Amino acid sequence: MRNCEVIVVGGGPAGASAARRLKQGGADVLVLDKEEFPRPKLCAGWITPEVVRDVDLQPGDYPHRFLSFRRLHWHLKGLHLPIPCVQHSIRRIEFDAWLLQQSGAEVAAHGVRDIHRDGSDYIIDRQFRCKYLVGAGGTACPVHRSLFRQTLPRVRALQTVTLELEFEYEWSDADCHLWFFEHGLPGYSWYVPKARGWLNVGIGGMAQRLKQRGEDIWWHWRGFADRLERRFGMRIPAEPSGYSYYVRGPIDGARLDNAFLTGDAAGLATRDLCEGIGPAVRSGVRAAEAILHGAPYELADVTGASMGGGWISRMIDWGFTRGIGRPTIPAHAAI
Ligand SMILES: Cc1cc2nc3c(=O)[nH]c(=O)nc-3n(C[C@H](O)[C@H](O)[C@H](O)COP(=O)(O)OP(=O)(O)OC[C@H]3O[C@@H](n4cnc5c(N)ncnc54)[C@H](O)[C@@H]3O)c2cc1C
Repeated sequence: MRNCEVIVVGGGPAGASAARRLKQGGADVLVLDKEEFPRPKLCAGWITPEVVRDVDLQPGDYPHRFLSFRRLHWHLKGLHLPIPCVQHSIRRIEFDAWLLQQSGAEVAAHGVRDIHRDGSDYIIDRQFRCKYLVGAGGTACPVHRSLFRQTLPRVRALQTVTLELEFEYEWSDADCHLWFFEHGLPGYSWYVPKARGWLNVGIGGMAQRLKQRGEDIWWHWRGFADRLERRFGMRIPAEPSGYSYYVRGPIDGARLDNAFLTGDAAGLATRDLCEGIGPAVRSGVRAAEAILHGAPYELADVTGASMGGGWISRMIDWGFTRGIGRPTIPAHAAI
């Protein structure tokens, strides 16, 4: 049996950030991930200046694709608002591998199945034993499944469903575009260019509201693909892939004894833009601080909203979870 002080389950942004801080503090830490890195991760790969700062990313030294947008184009019910900004895009397959490698932690490829307590220790799959456990395994994190189902239950109303595709594309528009509530979608769609000829397009909405309205996300995807073709003359080259995660609900139960939940495992993505990388990074660091210094595991001030938390954030959240507008049947969906 392998004995460690801390085991981090999941090597995405939450796990890599926890591991990095733990290593800096001199802890004996092992990261377990079911995938070998670099691994693909469905994500638009938009990152904020806060993320760039939090992970100490020096754009000039970053060895992969890194693009900065000058404008964020909001499209809302026919209204077009080009907002000046400094925001960035990366490719997750590159960024996550870089972040994990930067952590300096030992990483083992292992898909965690079973976790149980032995006194004050945690035993994983009868192969690993640790004193502290960090759950950073995303939506289906086995630490959540094994230990936190009661204290931090998933809130169905806060579950997103997404479809996206990342592909090589010689874009000419280097800004990011977001379309909110198109055809009554309780969510938004995006166009996120990446440096050196890559593009990410996708769509996401609240799963329960779509279901209640008898819609499915593919119906909205087809409308989105039509819109991209009309606006950019772009043909989507393949079918998208889907993924689901939870936006922020109650967070009080994210620590149980010496076990911590971070990032998507704790359901920390923001309610207004469903931004999850920033909260993942910050919660990972908080968990590490709690382990290293016996500090409380406080998440209340961990990136709760992408748009500042004021009336714009609240209006978008309301639109996603309770509804702006009724669905309008677009031409592509008519039978
Ligand atoms: C389509 C889409 C677009 C998005 N776009 C953005 C965006 O542009 N910007 C943004 O900020 N956020 C975005 N998000 C959200 C963001 O991707 C997540 O919030 C973020 O990845 C959370 O990081 P994490 O480290 O918690 O989990 P993850 O990145 O999911 O990492 C979890 C890790 O755990 C591993 N793992 C899972 N199960 C096990 C197991 N049993 N054993 C061992 N390892 C395991 C996985 O292999 C994975 O490496 C998007 C999400 C989706 C689905």
